[in-house]
Amino acid sequence: MPTYNFAAGPATLPRPVLEQVQRELLDYQGSQLSILEISHRSPVFQEIYQQAKERLLQLMGLSADEYTPLFLQGGGTLQFTMVPLNLARDHHRVAYADTGHWSARAIEEAKKLPDLTVDVVTEAGPDFAHIPVVPDLLADTYDYLHITTNNTIMGLAYQDLPQTAVPLVGDLSSNFLGQAYDFSSFDLIYAGAQKNLAPAGVTIVVVKNDYLNDYLMEDYGLPSMLNYPALAKKESALNTPPVFQIYFANLVLKWLKEQGGVQAMDELNRQKAGLVYDYLDQSKLFSNRVAPDSRSLTNIPFTTGKADLDQRFIKEAAAAGLVNLKGHRLVGGMRASLYNAMPLAGAVALRDFMHQFEQEI
Ligand code: PMP
Repeated sequence: MPTYNFAAGPATLPRPVLEQVQRELLDYQGSQLSILEISHRSPVFQEIYQQAKERLLQLMGLSADEYTPLFLQGGGTLQFTMVPLNLARDHHRVAYADTGHWSARAIEEAKKLPDLTVDVVTEAGPDFAHIPVVPDLLADTYDYLHITTNNTIMGLAYQDLPQTAVPLVGDLSSNFLGQAYDFSSFDLIYAGAQKNLAPAGVTIVVVKNDYLNDYLMEDYGLPSMLNYPALAKKESALNTPPVFQIYFANLVLKWLKEQGGVQAMDELNRQKAGLVYDYLDQSKLFSNRVAPDSRSLTNIPFTTGKADLDQRFIKEAAAAGLVNLKGHRLVGGMRASLYNAMPLAGAVALRDFMHQFEQEI
């Protein structure tokens, strides 16, 4: 039986891409050099970078006239700081929807900045059963509303984006290109690559061009590495960019296109998640506490309610090739992450294993 990796991130990557990377690792397109050895200034890498930008915008249904993709470092976590530094310029007041751990981290970092008021306008209840509803916000009050589209730990996600009068910023780290949102609703999107796109080490930022004007770059006076306009002007290469990760992301973007794009991924992810949720809902042993309208397509926490039985399940599942099902350390239990690269067969194997386990105990 094949091994299926249900890790939350770094996570499973598309097999055909891994195989291509392996094939061309020692000799990239006849150059006798490895991609790991080439300069970020070389025409070879320049072509990869431009391709990745174009493919990303195309998959998101966005135009280069309106949006610019950046490939940065520092993870989603550095974006918790860069977003308010760059975008909180007019009102010095920003709104956050607190959907759980990662939103709380974003809020915590924003609060460290001077001269900035951070309002938490909605939050998930203590049981994390529902994705929090965002109230109407007055235009001209906030510089932006920040949402975390998918709570990686508790398994909550926005099915529909909040309709809001203020610019929308999204941390899409754990369902990036895996759920068919209307990306044009956002002024800025960010996502660490290590769940749906590439190995850890590159962070995608897609930002509206309005935020990238030259005068902003000078006026803000921000350190260059924290400054979107400065980074955009140098095509994300103010310092040496993560060449391998961007090359890898470019191949995954190509693979995504071949699979039918984000809409096809959304449908496949619904099918995979549906199999698991349907089993959980009728099971007498396992449960998931998230309300159906708030359930994540990519991260499914579940438990038997008994720590020792959860441990046994995780161990026996791993022995059967279903690995990394251990839940996040903050919640325990199990968590199945079903990112784009997880085939339908992986979700079927998990569902069948849960059934078998339930029959046997
Ligand atoms: N946001 C979300 C929703 C996440 O799930 C994570 C990582 N699990 C992060 C941010 C932090 O990402 P990074 O490790 O890339 O800084």
